[in-house]
Amino acid sequence: METNWRQAYLRALPGVDAVVSAVKKTMGTAYPHWLLVKISQKCIHKLRHRILQAAHASDLDGLELVPEAVAEQVEQELAGLVQPSLRRVINATGTVLHTNLGRARLAKAAIEAMQEAAGYCSLELDLASGHRGSRHVHVEKLLALLTGAEAACVVNNNAAAVLLALNTLAAGKKVIVSRGELVEIGGSFRIPEVMLASGAQLVEVGTTNKTRPRDYQQAIDEETALLLKVHTSNYRVVGFTESVEVAELVKISREANIPVMEDLGSGLFIDLSAFGLEKEPLVRESLAAGVDVLTLSGDKLLGGPQAGIIIGKRRFIEQIKKNQLLRALRPDKVTLAALEATLRIYLLGEPLKEIPVLAMLTMPLATLQRRAEALAKKIREHTQNLDVVVREDVSYVGGGAMPLTQLPTYVVALRPRQQSLAQWVEMLRLGEPSLVGRVQEGWLLLDPRTIAEAEEEEVVKCLI
Ligand SMILES: *Cc1c(COP(=O)(O)O)cnc(C)c1O
Repeated sequence: METNWRQAYLRALPGVDAVVSAVKKTMGTAYPHWLLVKISQKCIHKLRHRILQAAHASDLDGLELVPEAVAEQVEQELAGLVQPSLRRVINATGTVLHTNLGRARLAKAAIEAMQEAAGYCSLELDLASGHRGSRHVHVEKLLALLTGAEAACVVNNNAAAVLLALNTLAAGKKVIVSRGELVEIGGSFRIPEVMLASGAQLVEVGTTNKTRPRDYQQAIDEETALLLKVHTSNYRVVGFTESVEVAELVKISREANIPVMEDLGSGLFIDLSAFGLEKEPLVRESLAAGVDVLTLSGDKLLGGPQAGIIIGKRRFIEQIKKNQLLRALRPDKVTLAALEATLRIYLLGEPLKEIPVLAMLTMPLATLQRRAEALAKKIREHTQNLDVVVREDVSYVGGGAMPLTQLPTYVVALRPRQQSLAQWVEMLRLGEPSLVGRVQEGWLLLDPRTIAEAEEEEVVKCLI
């Protein structure tokens, strides 16, 4: 009888009360009763589903249905709840702005400022007058001093900055963009789609590889509200290309009496080309060239928290601040605290030393070699189970910035002798803390560039 075995299994399923009692017997009252009931129901439901789905009795061989066995599954689920989902990861990939790992590692001063602000703080209270203040003042002066902008406003991220600026300055009107600059960043930020969401109408000009001044000039009409330049931060068109430089676009915009906005993406405050990095436009240069509104990310090359920074001419920034959408896109106190502390380093500190992103990007090759060799030596001292080799390789900027830049580095290449590489890499990833390196041609590469010196001991512990 085909169904008899199925009926027998279904009848053998324990009740919720029996499972909850079994859990309490081993775990005491560490968890609230309602949670035990909920998780027990879920586990029993999963077992019932498995029984109903089984095609043959043999599919269920070894299935244990006594309350104690089901209780073990409940306990495993509970253990999973106790461990945070957002966990610390040691980034050994060598990709400095690793979007999946949280982009920028924050400066020590920024982390301290976040902790200070976590309680009560002067977010919207003007301490001098005792009256209601604005959350935007905390970073505005710093941004103005650092970039030469007249005014500034900060939102949740750069995608929000672009959305808000376009909505304020061009909703219901036309925005002219070069076809060579219709970028997609990180799989979800696409200029044409953000434009649509903002209520502005996209007018594409030029071609993928060439756009000339007269393409903009011919497209301008009485409905045009804005000329937009987008920094193609994550790709390059090479070969026969032509684009209109910021200064030229500003000239066209002045003649037509239409503002120019630039989405700079990363937004660099300091020229890093002396350190072997691609020449990226500097925020100050774009503003000096006459751009009216400029947007950039807080957590890309700036090296701060996730934020979108809008800077430029006062009259446009004031309009943006009055937009109701800002209420939905505004940053929280912890973000503002971290951003303020990061900007203060640019103003008063030593950014190349104190801002981890900049320190990592400019780390001398000799330092990387010394650190890779020291790490390899320690690993060899602690385990015989790995092949350990130090060799030259490259690190990447990441975060959709400087796609062509390969920074020379030294890596520790590791290969387990008694285990498959994939299994071992998974074990490291699931470890505490999680260790993530770069898998390449049968080796796991650890790049000291993105490993903090304070993490080196931990890396060795993860590996042995
Ligand atoms: C990264 C980037 C964005 C999106 O910025 P987020 O801060 O990730 O929202 C938008 N435009 C450009 C040109 C970028 O490089």
